[in-house]
Order: sequence, then C-alpha cells, then structure tokens
Amino acid sequence: MTIASAPPTDPDGTWLPQARRVPSPNHGPRPSGVTLDLIVVHAISLPPGEYGGPYIEQLFTNTLDCDAHPYFQTLRGLQVSAHFLIRRDGELIQFVACERRAWHAGQSRWRARPNCNDYAIGIELEGLDGDVFEPAQYQALAALCQTLRQRYPTLAAVVGHEHIAPGRKRDPGPGFDWVRLQALTGWPADCFADVIGPTTGPHTRR
Ligand SMILES: [Zn+2]
Repeated sequence: MTIASAPPTDPDGTWLPQARRVPSPNHGPRPSGVTLDLIVVHAISLPPGEYGGPYIEQLFTNTLDCDAHPYFQTLRGLQVSAHFLIRRDGELIQFVACERRAWHAGQSRWRARPNCNDYAIGIELEGLDGDVFEPAQYQALAALCQTLRQRYPTLAAVVGHEHIAPGRKRDPGPGFDWVRLQALTGWPADCFADVIGPTTGPHTRR
C-alpha cells in the first residue's frame, strides 16, 4: 500500500485544515494496493459560465434542485464529486478525503491505465473550458499541489480531464495555462509531460 495512512487523529482520512469541508456522499474505497500518482484538473461552473452560486456544492452533495435552472435538467440523478474545488477567489473546498475514491474522471485512461478515479486526486476549478482562470486560482492550485505531494510523494503527474478522456471532455480547456502552473509549483517537466510537449505544443502528447 503506497497511499500514506491517515494520521490517527483523523480516522476518516485526510482532510486538509486549510480547506472548507463540505462532505460529499459520492465516494468509495480505492482499490487495495493502488499507487496514488495522478492529479486531475477540471473546470466546472453551474450554470456553465456563471460563477459564485451555491450549485457546485449542491451538485457534489446530491442536494441540487434540478428545477432551479433549465441546464440542471441534464444533471438529474447524477452522482459525482471531486476531492477539491477552488473557487474564483481562490477559496479551497474539500468534498472527499484524499484516501477515498472520488467520482470525477469517469471513463478515462492515463498512460495505458484505465479508470483514473482509482489512483487520482480530482481538483475542480470554478470556470469554463475556453475561459481564463483567476490568478488566485493558480496560486491556490499550486499550493494545493505542493501540500498533496508532500503528503503523497508518489504523486507523479498533473493532467487535465481533457487529456485522460479526449473527445469526451474538454476541461479545463485552452484557457488554462499549464506552463504557469508548472512555474508556480517548480515541479520538473516530467510531471507535466502529458500536457506540455517539448516541441509539439500543448495537448498533443499522450
Ligand atoms: Zn472534468
């Protein structure tokens, strides 16, 4: 088992003290013996392109009123979650303990390994594929990545949902600056090899 064990004071798994805790019921056990080695970055806004409402938290806690907006009809019955959400102002919210398997990636594949939810930590940015992201979000994301990698040294790479579910998902999209995230983390190019190609440009390597 390469996942770091939770400290004894936190029997439910790892919840970061700097995050506001909004527990989601949408999670399960990770497969035993799995190596926690991937960070998946997403973008979400509800309704799409509108920021600041309570709807993402409601979606991840199965409390969204699907009659509140026409778009929400498409979300009826959906049970999804991510470990973390970073809002436009940089606020960090945690929905699922890091040791648990959150439901963010769906059908997905990374470096020939299917089912990324098994071995990934999912981080949602409040945003929209095609839109840009706020400086406060980059700062919060980089800080979160640092914290996670200190706790889970097996974390080896950062990718977007679009890279592990190509053709099906487009988030975080072209408005997300991977070079900026790499610079803020100071992590080696290896960690961003799937998203920043040395000669071929972003988003082309697999
Ligand atoms: Zn996504």
